[in-house]
Amino acid sequence: MAFNLQEDLNKRREAGLFRQTLTAQSPQGPLMKINGQQYLTFCSNDYLGLANHPQLIESFKQAANDMGVGSGSAHLVNGHSQTHENLEQALAEFTGREAAILFSTGYMANLGVVGALLDKQDAVFEDKWNHASLLDAGLLSGARFQRYLHNDLENLQARLARSEARRKLIVTDAVFSMDGDCADLIGLSHLAKQHDAWLMVDDAHGFGVLGKTGAGLCEENNLGPKDVQVLMGTLGKGFGTAGAFVAGSKELIEYLTNFARPYIYTTAMPAAIAAATLTSLDIVKNEPQRREHLQKLISLFRVGATALGLNLMASNTPIQPIVIGEADEAIKLTEQLKQQGILVTAIRPPTVPQGTARLRVTLSAAHTEQQVLQLLDALKNITQASSTLEN
Ligand SMILES: *Cc1c(COP(=O)(O)O)cnc(C)c1O
Repeated sequence: MAFNLQEDLNKRREAGLFRQTLTAQSPQGPLMKINGQQYLTFCSNDYLGLANHPQLIESFKQAANDMGVGSGSAHLVNGHSQTHENLEQALAEFTGREAAILFSTGYMANLGVVGALLDKQDAVFEDKWNHASLLDAGLLSGARFQRYLHNDLENLQARLARSEARRKLIVTDAVFSMDGDCADLIGLSHLAKQHDAWLMVDDAHGFGVLGKTGAGLCEENNLGPKDVQVLMGTLGKGFGTAGAFVAGSKELIEYLTNFARPYIYTTAMPAAIAAATLTSLDIVKNEPQRREHLQKLISLFRVGATALGLNLMASNTPIQPIVIGEADEAIKLTEQLKQQGILVTAIRPPTVPQGTARLRVTLSAAHTEQQVLQLLDALKNITQASSTLEN
């Protein structure tokens, strides 16, 4: 019975790790109808509240009228439209890089970059808590794969010093997706220079959200293309659309256009998505009040949750996990929140280390202060009830 799938599924279920999708009957936003029920949600990556923004919808519709729905082919055949071209140039300018290249998803961008830059003569150094797509990218590249301790520059330095690889690529999340803390990009860029390595930063959760103009954690730390040679950002989170891009030198982008297989062998994203993303970019640049409101909500949540004695992580980003410990306890708490009409995701192993199952609360500029207070109230009710049970 080589294909006894049920046995594996049962084991997952018994370990409290079984996963299944929820089904939404309304657009992304703080108030959603899901599996037929109304919820106040704190689990999306739509940090600026753009996924269902009327101006994005309008650009999308307009572009669909002008350009149709499907792009019809890969970028290198005839699927690359003027709208794609405009978006690439706008993203390059926004991030202060010479050029940019679009990918259909962030996962593919990561596989594409690492796979194109490295082979078995090379070495890749990844933060232990990097996103799965970066870890997969490193493993698939065939390069010597090393994970350094989370944000531990000494541990990384020792590994770099020992390496005799042709190319050395340091790869990190900018904002760690399950913890919400930020990488020490300045320290990493110094180390990279000392060891003749390159630094690749995946700013999926910082792009649109961090930095003075929303250009991300590199902007916040004033790091240009000589410090961070490869900047990757996604468009499906803060930007509210879909897809991803890589920005860097003209040479890097020409190289990826020629060697990144997940760019070459896939259909270009619909031009209407690129058009909507150009509108997101305008909003990100021109409405800093979205980022300011979000920061206010983050402080409000942290102060309130700390007062309740909840175990928060060292995060000043919209990702605000509450560490619970055991997977079944985290599941129980999400169920209790659900009964109060609040949707928060439980994150369990193997996504996070054993014993650190958590409620991953994410905040959006679309939330009101009142809604954050409502979450805190619900957390107060359930955690007080469960500590009475335990005592
Ligand atoms: C979400 C995410 C990705 C994947 O991006 P998609 O566009 O959703 O495929 C890559 N890296 C990080 C850090 C992410 O959080």
